Amino acid sequence: MVEMGEKCSVVGLFNVPEAAKFAYFGLFSLQHRGQEAAGIASSDGEKIHLVKGRGLVTQVFDGEKLELLTGDSAVGHTRYSTAGEDSVLDAQPIFARYDLGQIAVVHNGNLTNAKEVRRELIREGAIFQTFMDTENLIHLIARSQKSQLYDRIIEALHRIEGAYSLIFLSRRKMFAVRDPHGFRPLSIGKLKEGWVVASETCAFDLIGAEYVRDVVPGELVVFEKGKEPRSIQVFEPTPHKCVFEYIYFARPDSLIYGKSVYELRKAMGRELAKEYPVQADMVVPVPDSGVAAALGYAEASGIPFEMGIIRNHYVGRTFIEPTQSIRDLKVKMKLNPIKEVIRGKRLIVIDDSIVRGTTSRKIVGILKEFGAKEVHMRISAPPTTGPCYYGVDTPTKEELIASKMSVEETRRYIGADTLAYLSIEGLLRSVGNDQSYCMACFDGDYPVEKRE
Ligand code: 5GP
Ligand code: SF4
Ligand code: MG
Repeated sequence: MVEMGEKCSVVGLFNVPEAAKFAYFGLFSLQHRGQEAAGIASSDGEKIHLVKGRGLVTQVFDGEKLELLTGDSAVGHTRYSTAGEDSVLDAQPIFARYDLGQIAVVHNGNLTNAKEVRRELIREGAIFQTFMDTENLIHLIARSQKSQLYDRIIEALHRIEGAYSLIFLSRRKMFAVRDPHGFRPLSIGKLKEGWVVASETCAFDLIGAEYVRDVVPGELVVFEKGKEPRSIQVFEPTPHKCVFEYIYFARPDSLIYGKSVYELRKAMGRELAKEYPVQADMVVPVPDSGVAAALGYAEASGIPFEMGIIRNHYVGRTFIEPTQSIRDLKVKMKLNPIKEVIRGKRLIVIDDSIVRGTTSRKIVGILKEFGAKEVHMRISAPPTTGPCYYGVDTPTKEELIASKMSVEETRRYIGADTLAYLSIEGLLRSVGNDQSYCMACFDGDYPVEKRE
């Protein structure tokens, strides 16, 4: 069984006419967080409507489907899947009828005690419809003896552990929650008379909403007609905000935890230039993920920036394909160097991470084949040595090249002349060292243990 609820995006609209259409555009701007499935649930005050399916946001929805999603509140989701087990049932929102009425929920993150809670629920007679950890929440809420949904949500939150940025939609209310560690981002915006909640603020820009603040780790925000949003600090915050959002995952035009992703990526590049300078003719990013860091590296080193590699945007992210042979092909489909730019040149090539090593190895190979004189690989993050249990779909420890090879061995494997990674201290200097980040996939310090 695969646990779902991975690296995804969530959006919620409250008190916004034609909420589902805004949810659609919100999801469109969050598409980079998951391309496997998409869904929206809306409420017209009496009934919750649901449309979800496999594929991109633009493939799942058309004008007709959006017409079905009436009402002035909505929640939406895009899903990033790991291999296997992806049926429409495992798309979100999850919808249920229960004794208090109807509910829909969307989730970004991974519950670390999901299997344990699921086993208990099944023993007590629950019948599960999906493989998603998020379904636990629906069962916990449905089984609760409390008379108010609000109390039932709080009760359920006390049974779950791990990473969750959640939005619940009932017929007349919306609830946004972030786990006490704040592993995954979640921001609140204002849209005319109504409210928007989204994984990243780039969703606000598209729909014309204004960023107000983040949901605080451990906070529950209740949206109700005719009232200001109500905040309840359910748990004491113990922040461990995912630093990888800044490195790779979020869009550079978003604010994450209130700071510009683009600016921080540039700062990582500047730090990298200070930590690992090298004589060369040009700084070349691996597009798109390496661009901002490469600009920072070029700025700090004074070496010119060149777009020496061009990306074909019509190829999905290379992780989606399960087999190694297809991954290799897809790297070539996606990235092509400009021979005239790189021939005979000493290059500093910047990428945000080396995961399995496939991309870097291919890129170094193609650059050398096309006549680059030297290739100095610089990575704007520390070596990825461990998997993520909190909602980012990194491969197993065995598949991570940095967990089994030294930097020198990796350099030889990818065929670069030199290789260096940003240090953990350099990363912290770039993102503002306030001791509130999760860096577990880099330093092995997991704030919440994963339980089987
Ligand atoms: P590798 O080929 O070494 O396995 O992957 C490295 C490339 O994957 C880098 O260009 C980086 O931008 C990208 N990358 C890093 N982390 C992730 C991730 O979690 N998911 C996806 N799809 N790509 C990633
Ligand atoms: Fe983010 Fe890495 Fe922590 Fe996962 S382990 S939440 S990817 S920093
Ligand atoms: Mg990349």
